[in-house]
Amino acid sequence: MNSGQENIIDRIEYLEKIALQLEPSAENRAALLNQIVKYSEDFINRIYEIPAFVNSTDKGKGILDYPISEVGSDITQLINLIKHNIDRPGLNPASGGHLGYIPGGGIYFSALGDYLAAIFNRYAGIYFAGPGAVQMEHMLLDWMAEIVGYPQSSGGNLTSGGSIANLIGIVAARDAQNLKAADFSRSVIYLTSQVHHSVDKAIRIAGLKECVIRYVTMDGRFRMDPSDLEKQITTDKNSGLNPFLIIASAGTTDTGSVDPMQDIADLANQNNIWLHVDGAYGAFFVLCEEGKKILNGMERSDSLVMDPHKGLFLPYGSGAVLVRDKQKLFDSFWYQANYMQDALKAQDQLSPADISPELTKHFRGLRLWLPLKLVGVAPFRAALEEKIMLARYFYHEIQKIENIETGHFPDLSVVTYRYLPKRGDANLFNEKLVKAVQEDGRVFISSTMINGNFTLRLAVLSFRTHKKTIDLTIDILKEKIDQLERE
Ligand SMILES: *Cc1c(COP(=O)(O)O)cnc(C)c1O
Repeated sequence: MNSGQENIIDRIEYLEKIALQLEPSAENRAALLNQIVKYSEDFINRIYEIPAFVNSTDKGKGILDYPISEVGSDITQLINLIKHNIDRPGLNPASGGHLGYIPGGGIYFSALGDYLAAIFNRYAGIYFAGPGAVQMEHMLLDWMAEIVGYPQSSGGNLTSGGSIANLIGIVAARDAQNLKAADFSRSVIYLTSQVHHSVDKAIRIAGLKECVIRYVTMDGRFRMDPSDLEKQITTDKNSGLNPFLIIASAGTTDTGSVDPMQDIADLANQNNIWLHVDGAYGAFFVLCEEGKKILNGMERSDSLVMDPHKGLFLPYGSGAVLVRDKQKLFDSFWYQANYMQDALKAQDQLSPADISPELTKHFRGLRLWLPLKLVGVAPFRAALEEKIMLARYFYHEIQKIENIETGHFPDLSVVTYRYLPKRGDANLFNEKLVKAVQEDGRVFISSTMINGNFTLRLAVLSFRTHKKTIDLTIDILKEKIDQLERE
């Protein structure tokens, strides 16, 4: 052997010794896992007591005092860093007291699914590589299609969240309607001013910002007015424009309003317009009878977004899009690369990579499959109906506080309300009120502007939110209103 080759062997042996630190021993693994489990158990065991919001002054910047370096650290020290800098400051989305934005919680069973997914590291992007993983994801999407009433011809994708799911739906709509750049400026999208901002963002990312965007009038409950929609479509058609996409909301983020799906679907059908429904927040309410009634007609859409990390209480990182005609999804997202030829030849099933922008991706199926299989669907149905009932309960209870004004009766599980102070500016007062509740931290509520009015929101969707939480919220609101009135 020449000395060059010997040098290489020496070097390899040297490098291997160092690289082997990436493979902990059984003993080492047990010790690490023990510490991680101890810490997570401590967190969960205290979850009903610890604050929903911590307004710390340091904002977790202590993490920056320990930069990434060449040598490793002890797990105990690292857990401490996480505990003080990550798990303490800001919003605690795992808390049932999280009643702002759109909560979800993060069920424990999903963490176990993620743990396994990371250990096996199955390649869930391509059927050839991970046939079981891909079939599991298909099964979950088929289940979603079934619960919403989509046909067997539909397909879908487990995404990172609702934003990407909206993007996929809108891109599929653009291509299915055969829109080319030259058509954009005469093609029309219909939506309301209450669509989630990720929809506006998706329109822009999809290159459609030059389309004509029509804001459809809403009724007093912030639902799309189908008669105005019809009028606008007719006017646009008469003036030679190309109406191609309606975006409806199955539960707006701001006020939880559900657009009238049947009427909108009729118009979409009659006029050959793609109907995309953003149900990131609300679509999973279809699992309970009450929700199913409210969402009736959603199943007539061409594409539908639903977020398991909202409506199925999963930890963040799980959205989904369904498309009525799977082929449309394939047409938009399929791609062939030379180095993928083995995978393509072996293919007798669609792969997630064929129907989404992603190739290598997190095996998102396991974090959804494990909880559904472990406890069954029944507890999810119950929890969702419970959330609707809790919102209605709050809606009635909060009106018992003098000078509280509520918005409309909740369609799903978002209630809007504001306090009208005895003197002074109502907007200023409500801004102080939401701040006072957030500073207190036992629960977290958020606010929005409705018709120029600073308005408080209660969004009930954490699986850990129960009647006790709602009663506590009402007590805290009373307490803070009294304090602010006395200031
Ligand atoms: C949360 C939400 C989105 C965005 O979903 P992400 O999962 O946050 O990306 C879109 N639409 C609605 C109605 C939402 O509530």
